[in-house]
Amino acid sequence: MDHSAEYTKAKALPQLSTTLTPDVFIAGSGPIGATFAAELHRINPKLKILMTDIGGLDTAVPGSHKKNSIDFQKDIDRFVHIIQGDLSTVSVPVTNVPVTNADPEVFLPWYEDIKVKIGTDPNGRASKWFVRNNQNPEQKPEFNLGAEAVTRCVGGMSTHWTCACPELHPELERPRLEADDDKNNAEWTKLYKRAKELIGVGDTQFSESIRHQLVLDTLIKEFPAVGQIPPREFKALPLACERDTDDPRYVTWHSAHTILKTLGAALKVDEEEVVRAGDFFELYPNTRCTRVWQLPNKGEIDFVECTRLRLGKVDTNVQVKAKVYIIAAGAVGTPQILANSFFAKEQELPALGKYITEQTMAFCQIMLYRDLIAGVREKPKPEWQKRVEDHIRDFPLDPIAMPFDEPEPQVTSPISKEHPWHTQASYSNQNSRRIHRDAFSYGKVGATIDSRVVVDLRFFGRNDPVETNTLTFSNIHRDGYDMPQPTFHFQMTAHSRKESGLMMADMTNVATKLGGYLPGSEPQFLEPGLALHLAGTFRAFQPGTKANPPNPSDNAKDFSVVNENSQVHGFTNLFLGGNGIIPTAFAANPTLTSMCYAIRASTVIAEKAK
Ligand SMILES: Cc1cc2nc3c(=O)[nH]c(=O)nc-3n(C[C@H](O)[C@H](O)[C@H](O)COP(=O)(O)OP(=O)(O)OC[C@H]3O[C@@H](n4cnc5c(N)ncnc54)[C@H](O)[C@@H]3O)c2cc1C
Repeated sequence: MDHSAEYTKAKALPQLSTTLTPDVFIAGSGPIGATFAAELHRINPKLKILMTDIGGLDTAVPGSHKKNSIDFQKDIDRFVHIIQGDLSTVSVPVTNVPVTNADPEVFLPWYEDIKVKIGTDPNGRASKWFVRNNQNPEQKPEFNLGAEAVTRCVGGMSTHWTCACPELHPELERPRLEADDDKNNAEWTKLYKRAKELIGVGDTQFSESIRHQLVLDTLIKEFPAVGQIPPREFKALPLACERDTDDPRYVTWHSAHTILKTLGAALKVDEEEVVRAGDFFELYPNTRCTRVWQLPNKGEIDFVECTRLRLGKVDTNVQVKAKVYIIAAGAVGTPQILANSFFAKEQELPALGKYITEQTMAFCQIMLYRDLIAGVREKPKPEWQKRVEDHIRDFPLDPIAMPFDEPEPQVTSPISKEHPWHTQASYSNQNSRRIHRDAFSYGKVGATIDSRVVVDLRFFGRNDPVETNTLTFSNIHRDGYDMPQPTFHFQMTAHSRKESGLMMADMTNVATKLGGYLPGSEPQFLEPGLALHLAGTFRAFQPGTKANPPNPSDNAKDFSVVNENSQVHGFTNLFLGGNGIIPTAFAANPTLTSMCYAIRASTVIAEKAK
């Protein structure tokens, strides 16, 4: 579709009542948008930065982690409801099951005498049920990433994330940024260091915990790193959080706010909920970035069209004219904005929404063996001694000799050639939200199981990027925010399927070293998309690899959307950020790596925005 001419047609342009003129525009206030803002400010404090987010200000401290509330510090099980509430499913297939016991006199679309004017469904199915409740008639259920979801609020998903921040494995997962091996390694080392500083990553926040040590010590004993073939490493999971120094029972979880704090000026919120830092940073919540506009076929963005959805001048279309434009609206929202923009035929991005990846997840919850729990009482490690004795003294009837608020385990076994998946042993109950438990066993488990003996095992598997796995945007249907409705077409390759089988076998093997399954949480694969690590939707070019994946053509545009500096092919001033940029199959949690891309791009952007 050649829409470029429309730019000149006044009627194609919305009424733009306000014009804002920052140096840099950023769509999306998640951790990646925040990284761009922080890095750009660090490089050039004079730059004026304007950010918008389609979501509202959910937290009093803009973009902070909701788990920091005392409510969830006291009872982590309650946090699962927050996560659930924060996630909006991306694509819901239409349900065809009619409600047949409704009052026969009410409006029911299948009565033939009701001449419902029916729309056409490109897939020729289900259209008579019309679009409602956010259902997507274009979504084939068997190819869906049914649990894939987005979060719309200031701070994005980092207001609820688990904060796991591993690096990608140099050979098994990590994309390439430089053609030369040494330069590539040095670049990643530098970027990971900076990313960890920005979001505050450590691996000792849980190391004192009895529960943590119990799990880690057991796994190290069962899978000795030396002498075992293949070797296996278990260690503390790197996490973006810090244990409070004044009250070590509590943890401050890091988020977009942690990154924005490095701007060095206090974030102030005005009556219209606009967030400002000094005179150089502004963030408009409830403000949709609708599309980018360019001078016809110039490959240079002229302005972005934004709409304030609430507060302030409601429904005002705002024109933002900047020198550089960054879209960091998540793995779905970013390509959605591009799909909603009018690009000329020769500017279209053939790889947009192709070669998408999402991790396969195996999950179970186990209850620790009685020997392990009894050992805490009978043979406590010297560093546990005082805590154990105090607890026995204060709670002589408690059968478990460790404090009630002993922090959860946070253990990982990083990906390796022999075990090409990412492993987390922790406790957050996060995934039990999607697990079926019948009322009987649920009630029973809830009442009689002590969460101190429960460990979640979560294994994340890689999926190969293939051209046929796609995220497309409808020309007909719109989502609840009046943006093009996304549709998934996703199937695992034979190689990835095999790898997930081995991963499941490995998870059950690890589980049996620690305990028995919690009834209702036996080993299972979770619904595709539940990892919430969707990637590849606007994948980056990898220098030094002729074509990736090999062979489609030598034209970078056919298999990547941005170059190695996050700049969109064919555009001088348009940059993208977020997990959608990662072009490789990977098993680890992606946010830290996406931050690296944003940090690298910021150097190029700061130069252009001068
Ligand atoms: C339960 C859970 C656990 C997780 N655990 C981990 C973990 O341990 N480790 C890890 O690495 N990752 C984890 N993640 C994923 C992690 O949160 C994301 O990788 C990260 O937040 C991505 O950052 P982002 O800034 O690219 O996108 P997001 O955080 O999704 O932010 C994008 C922002 O863009 C906004 N937006 C969307 N469309 C528009 C538009 N049109 N205009 C303006 N704004 C728009 C959204 O409102 C949102 O605020 C987890 C996520 C969840 C929900």
